[in-house]
Amino acid sequence: MPDIFTYDIVEALRRSGCPLCRVDAIDDRRWVDSFWREGKQDPGTRRRFFAAGGFCRHHAWLLHRLVAAAGAGAAIADVYGFLAESDLSRLDDLRGSLDRGRRRRRTPLRRGSRCPACVAFEAGAERKIYFFVQLLAEASVRPHYGSSDGLCLVHFKPSLEHALDVDEDVARFLLDDWRRRLAHVRGQLAEFDRMRDYRYAAEPKGDEQRSWTEVIRRYVGERFTEGPGHD
Ligand SMILES: [Zn+2]
Ligand SMILES: [Zn+2]
Repeated sequence: MPDIFTYDIVEALRRSGCPLCRVDAIDDRRWVDSFWREGKQDPGTRRRFFAAGGFCRHHAWLLHRLVAAAGAGAAIADVYGFLAESDLSRLDDLRGSLDRGRRRRRTPLRRGSRCPACVAFEAGAERKIYFFVQLLAEASVRPHYGSSDGLCLVHFKPSLEHALDVDEDVARFLLDDWRRRLAHVRGQLAEFDRMRDYRYAAEPKGDEQRSWTEVIRRYVGERFTEGPGHD
């Protein structure tokens, strides 16, 4: 399975947080990074970028962070310069048709397609689920997964669904593992609650103090999108 995702996933099992949140974030940055370095020269990629009216908010700011870190503002000036130019003529068209008293049925700045980085992200995320389930079929990988921080619910759900389709043994493993992790955080939340009682106020505080952060991470995953080098 010599795929870059597989390598990234194995690597992510050794790091903190949901491994698939981590590889999604790595891949997201990789895509945007290669967009401004060479992708934007590709006519197809360029067309999709303009058809979408540029990137969504998340990807535009990710692009901005990466470009700023490289001191390469000209990359943004290029694509967003073209975009602004074509939007100016659309606005002029609209203004002209208003002056001619014509009603336009279409929303004037409607875009023909979705943010191309989002489209690439979703396709990549799906492939990673596929590779992750394949990895877990290897008995030697399971202890590594077991000792990692495990999947968030966002990644657990599609992984379980895919495993149920292709490998019930992996599905059982995933289910037991995730149930154990959820039961653990549930126990910690109960402990946190108990210790808020003044009668136990003198007891030393422990991991349960982080439980209300842990439960959010378990459900929605990590915030790995803060910028390059963030983890
Ligand atoms: Zn996740
Ligand atoms: Zn996007």
